[in-house]
Amino acid sequence: MPESQPKKWFQTTAIDYPNSRPHIGTAFEKLGADVQARYRRMEGFRVFFLMGNDENTVKVAKRAAELGQDPKSYCDEMARQFRAVWDALEISYDEFVQTSEERHHRCCRAFIQKVYDNGYIRKDKFEGWYCNGCEAFKSEQEVKDANGVCPLHPNAPLVRRSEDCYYFEQSKFRDRLLKLYEDRPDFIQPETRRNEILALVKEGLQDLNITRLGETWGIRVPWDERFTIYVWFDALLTYITGIGYGSDESQFKQWWPCDTHFIGKDITRFHCATWPAMLLAAGLEPPRIVFGHGFVYKKNEETGAVEKFSKSLGNVIEPMDIVTKFSAEVFRYYFLRECPFPADGEFSWQRFADLNNADLSNNLGNLYSRLVTLIGKYDGGALPGTAGRVPAAIQGIDAAATVAQVRAHVEACRYNQALETIWRQVLDPANQAIERAAPWKSIKTDKDATAEVLFQLLEPLRISTVLLKPFLPRSAETIYASFNFERPWAEVRFGDAAKPQTATDDLRVLASLVDGKVKPLFPRIG
Ligand SMILES: [Zn+2]
Repeated sequence: MPESQPKKWFQTTAIDYPNSRPHIGTAFEKLGADVQARYRRMEGFRVFFLMGNDENTVKVAKRAAELGQDPKSYCDEMARQFRAVWDALEISYDEFVQTSEERHHRCCRAFIQKVYDNGYIRKDKFEGWYCNGCEAFKSEQEVKDANGVCPLHPNAPLVRRSEDCYYFEQSKFRDRLLKLYEDRPDFIQPETRRNEILALVKEGLQDLNITRLGETWGIRVPWDERFTIYVWFDALLTYITGIGYGSDESQFKQWWPCDTHFIGKDITRFHCATWPAMLLAAGLEPPRIVFGHGFVYKKNEETGAVEKFSKSLGNVIEPMDIVTKFSAEVFRYYFLRECPFPADGEFSWQRFADLNNADLSNNLGNLYSRLVTLIGKYDGGALPGTAGRVPAAIQGIDAAATVAQVRAHVEACRYNQALETIWRQVLDPANQAIERAAPWKSIKTDKDATAEVLFQLLEPLRISTVLLKPFLPRSAETIYASFNFERPWAEVRFGDAAKPQTATDDLRVLASLVDGKVKPLFPRIG
């Protein structure tokens, strides 16, 4: 019988503006998405993880001009810098789309033509207040509420602008969108975002001006080349460019619809209303899930106030600063453990050091180095008489129940709770057990009995390592590869955490030791 095709998992993150370097907030989103991709791979899915940069904006063209560069070279250089940060953070993306690329231009032109041919685009006039900072017209209401300026750019005067334009008739999709939200209650996540969107669409969507006149940087409208495509309409199409829309139909069919779009909570409206309407207009299925994650704020350590990261407050932290000074693993752990992905979180250097020391150095790291060191004291670093045997469970650890709970948390993107569960239900009891047994004492008097104790204590370390694979890919691999566990690391599945392995050989340390000790995995901070 032919093996059934493994299930596919296609996910994306929002694409970023390259007018400045990646910041903590964008990194937070990429991290959350990365955990999901790594988890799905472990679960046997065929995964496609797409990211990219949003380059067809007036701001990008301006920034390039300021630096005396042509926009394309500027975008390419920024894309290189962004990817260097994502690589340093071990973000396991499969495809990176730059919207200034030829393939994206082709995709956009094919898509907008399709929507036009299907009768959902009309020509009309548009007049309104335009903010150059936002690259968008502001509604009369917004302008009024902000006393005549843009709420986001109060110092840049709004300009009155009137132009010919093409409208995307998203108002025609009100009922189909409401039906989509009703049929698929999990379409918008988390739940709080869903209510905002429902109210908005119920009120009725305004048609969207999707073209601009007289711009030189951007994608031309295929049937009227005087116009470029409005940057939001073009940016959303990145999600289908990367899987071959308009160029590789079979690849596109393999991956669409998207299983999860990860985005910041501030852009849910575009993703939950405009985007599915665009897809329906082109005769395509809407995505399965749009997940609007929360934001990370900076805790001011002198005043205790919670602030936005901003250049004017002088509190901007570059992800690379943390990675170079400490490690990508500590970076990942902090944001995944401390900042709930569906809600908001805070960063402070004090908390960063505390969490590293308590959870990583003193807990996981200590358990690991103790076990390596002690097992390393046996002949050939092997625990005699352990071949072919299954370790007995440690009191207080229920691996099967923990796996089920962690899995549910990861699938709902409650990564902080997943990590808390691993620590509270596996690592804490394991550390208590090793303190109680004190094998560093008993090894001096009864080496054989101690071998049995170590054999049992190694099991919770193995369990947590498997569960930590999507979160701390490097450290988990280092720990796992320090012993001769049977299953190759690349093939380890999430469920293996609850399946003790019987080894063909005695359990043995493979890590290299210097003076009988292993290099600390997580050095203490401060
Ligand atoms: Zn603005």
